[in-house]
Amino acid sequence: MSFEDIPVDIGVVYEGERVKSKDMFVELGGPKMGQKFELALAREAGEIEDEKVTIIGPDLKDMEEGSYHPLGIVVEVAGKEIEPDLEGVIERRIHEYVNFVEGMMHLNQRYDIWIRLSKKSFEKGFKSFEYLGKVLIRLFKSEMNIIEKIQVTFITDPKIVTERYDDAINRYNQRDERARGLSDAEVDTFYGCSLCQSFAPTHVCTITPQRYANCGAISWFDGRAAARVDPKGPLYAISKGDTIDDYRGEYTGVNQSYTEKSLGKINSVVLYSAFEKPHTSCGCFEAIAFVIPEVDGLGIVHRDFKGDTVNGLPFSSMADSTAGGRQVPGFHGISIEYMRSPKFLQVDDGWNRIVWLPEAIKERVLEFVPEDVREKIATEKDAMNIADLKAYLKEKNHPVVQRWIEIEEEEETALVASAEGTDYVSVPGEMTAFVGGVGGGLEIIFKNAKIYAEKIIVRRTGKGDQKK
Ligand code: SF4
Repeated sequence: MSFEDIPVDIGVVYEGERVKSKDMFVELGGPKMGQKFELALAREAGEIEDEKVTIIGPDLKDMEEGSYHPLGIVVEVAGKEIEPDLEGVIERRIHEYVNFVEGMMHLNQRYDIWIRLSKKSFEKGFKSFEYLGKVLIRLFKSEMNIIEKIQVTFITDPKIVTERYDDAINRYNQRDERARGLSDAEVDTFYGCSLCQSFAPTHVCTITPQRYANCGAISWFDGRAAARVDPKGPLYAISKGDTIDDYRGEYTGVNQSYTEKSLGKINSVVLYSAFEKPHTSCGCFEAIAFVIPEVDGLGIVHRDFKGDTVNGLPFSSMADSTAGGRQVPGFHGISIEYMRSPKFLQVDDGWNRIVWLPEAIKERVLEFVPEDVREKIATEKDAMNIADLKAYLKEKNHPVVQRWIEIEEEEETALVASAEGTDYVSVPGEMTAFVGGVGGGLEIIFKNAKIYAEKIIVRRTGKGDQKK
């Protein structure tokens, strides 16, 4: 495959390259643009003019340095083995291939894309979407040989982006709805995705019918279709193996897959918890579930939420604490679609543990939030600091308030024990403690410890033992 006619270098070496705002020539999509999207569509061969690149609206050379533009990317493909189930997987490769371009940064997916072109690459001559189209076409054809014909369209005309945006959103919704009809118990195979290992080497997504991929772009059906046509590719089948704990979502096959793909760094994952051996988080998650220790609850913030959240931190600060392919209890990357799942953080008490989330997300998932807790979850309109949040939860009698009472009782028990004589607590055998917070967490293992303290508070972080 030759890229000699492209004025900048193309290669995997540029994946992970960041283009800072001071170095950018233009920004396409991103948080400043309300509407942006990328979409892959399976077509009949006769509907495609092979290798055609279409530009609707201003081209790169027509844009001013430092400017911001909406963007729609449409990749249409055809081939004997191409089916609509593959659209999500082909679409996700746009992220990977755009990042192969020297001086181009592509973040996120679907309706959330954020692309920057560097001044350096523009000055080298990368002044037209024509080049980007050629790069995408060549990479798609060489990496996915099921693609026989392909055409690519770039839309920067704001009016046309708006016109096509609703159609893109409807198509994403249709894909997501399809996967909702199936439960994890009904299948014996999950799918893994290691596409994000170039950014987060120990990360793999385990995609089940009821736990959507972190990026929100790949469903269980998409994984199945991709693994079928390219079993050695980044999406692969995971045999569930033996069930260690059905309620927690722990399976020998999933654990084995993590051990293999993370080269032994991650060996055990609980699929439905943000606290207990949580699913790893790369950096592409649509949202973060974050612990708010002061109320023993979880907040949620999505990528597009502007400004600080209720704990005083913006999405970007918490994303740094969450990402990197680690398991950070209390800082958990998730997709919006997972919030619609009956398995959503069920080990941690599911929606009964969610205390705060942006109004825009609440509206999107409202019908999946149990009716009795809907009004009890605060948004940015109800609370923007911990004191107000605490007051709101108390006033609404949110389910976490019951946890506060239990904690107070536990504190009292500890005080009574201390009043009964010894000034230490003896812990025979082994005890593990987790100290978490922004910036990551520490696991501390005590062996045959004696702990001297004025007071000991034991807090429950999940209710997994209380199986429903
Ligand atoms: S977030 Fe997960 S499913 Fe999505 S591309 Fe990355 S590894 Fe694959």
